Amino acid sequence: MHKSDITCPSCGSGFRRIQLTSEPGTKGEYRCPVCDTALEQFSGDKFIAYRLTVQPELSRVMK
Ligand SMILES: [Zn+2]
Repeated sequence: MHKSDITCPSCGSGFRRIQLTSEPGTKGEYRCPVCDTALEQFSGDKFIAYRLTVQPELSRVMK
């Protein structure tokens, strides 16, 4: 299992990216749920999951 942190270049949202090389994934892409920027294209040969960790728009509203 490989973990890394990704930041959306468009809106600054932070993501935790988890990659499992031992399991097949789904072909497609992951888009930022905040601004809809495509962050990664999946080839489907490994399982990749994204989890939103920092949401700048929401934290600004809550202050
Ligand atoms: Zn974004």
